[in-house]
Amino acid sequence: MATSTKKGRSRPAPAPATDADAAPRYTYHYCGVRPGLAPIGGAGVADARASAINTLRDKWLNGTELTYYFFDQPGDGEMVSLSDGSQRFVSWVGPAPQREALRQAFKVWADLGLGVRFREVSSREQAVVRIGFMIGDGSWSYVGRAILEQAANDRTLNIGWDVTQDLDTAIHEIGHTLGFQHEHQNPFSGIVWDEERVYAALAAPPNRWPRQKTFFNILRKLDTSTVEGTAWDPDSVMHYPFEAGLILQPPKYRTQPLRPAGGLSAQDIAQVRQIYPPQPPVNQMTELRLAESRRLTIAAGEQIDLQVRPTRSRTYQLGTFGEADTLIALFEDVDGTLKYRGGDDDSGEDRNARLQMRLQRGRSYVLRVRMYYATFAGETAVMWW
Ligand SMILES: [Zn+2]
Repeated sequence: MATSTKKGRSRPAPAPATDADAAPRYTYHYCGVRPGLAPIGGAGVADARASAINTLRDKWLNGTELTYYFFDQPGDGEMVSLSDGSQRFVSWVGPAPQREALRQAFKVWADLGLGVRFREVSSREQAVVRIGFMIGDGSWSYVGRAILEQAANDRTLNIGWDVTQDLDTAIHEIGHTLGFQHEHQNPFSGIVWDEERVYAALAAPPNRWPRQKTFFNILRKLDTSTVEGTAWDPDSVMHYPFEAGLILQPPKYRTQPLRPAGGLSAQDIAQVRQIYPPQPPVNQMTELRLAESRRLTIAAGEQIDLQVRPTRSRTYQLGTFGEADTLIALFEDVDGTLKYRGGDDDSGEDRNARLQMRLQRGRSYVLRVRMYYATFAGETAVMWW
């Protein structure tokens, strides 16, 4: 088993050239997703409240611009130790056709007209999403806002094989980046696995997964509080294909493979549009005046975007009031692009979201408030002062 020398994380070695003669071999090469944010819950948090929070916890505020960067420097990569004890540098820099496939995959999502947007940038400092193409490291992404917890020089998404003929893998990884989890781990799917066959299939090339990784990516059911709706969607781009015989229930998959239709399913599209609906331009957003308390009439899961236009440069407080779980964030309008300036999330805590920030006279800002859960609908408010 190869081990990375960087941070001691375990990584598979690059596949040897003679891989083809290794038997047995499994048909599909799978994404090995990285974690999202830990769900909230436990004593003192009611189920309905935990569910309202957790289904949105990994999602970005609508209107966020997800800038992305492809690693491009000769030193971008890492040393891996091979099983013979030697070490080898493996680059994160991908060939042009691979980068182009990722751009196409971003376009597939962007063409839905979402409120979340994507823009390629040429430096990692400007990027939220940092993409590598490390062969042998599999394809993966962190889930949604867990990306913000990764170190500034690390990848948040990796493509581990040629996706120029496999665009669905690129679309799938961007789905994780948007905050979506694996659909085959939907706890409402009714899937019963032949667990030992699954472990054996995934231990074979090309995946070569240890049991723990197979459990995390396939057998583990997602926490029910994190899942939107209850309908299982075997055509989702977030669903792996499976060879016949790995699934015992529904029984038809004992003898036939499960193959998602390919591309985004109708349910994928409906769900992402619900979470990231199209947004009006800044100058058409309602203005929240200084020291004006505005009652939040939005339902759980919804978001409101308010213009903030200070007439004096000083430090201001911005916050929510009442018994509610909210995520608030402030963006500054810089030449028509909204730049993230700061945010606070009080979900699952007995306090209110609050920001203290210096704002400049004459500039325009947007305060976004996402309501996870309100104990008493309509009895919460937002204000800046
Ligand atoms: Zn995945």
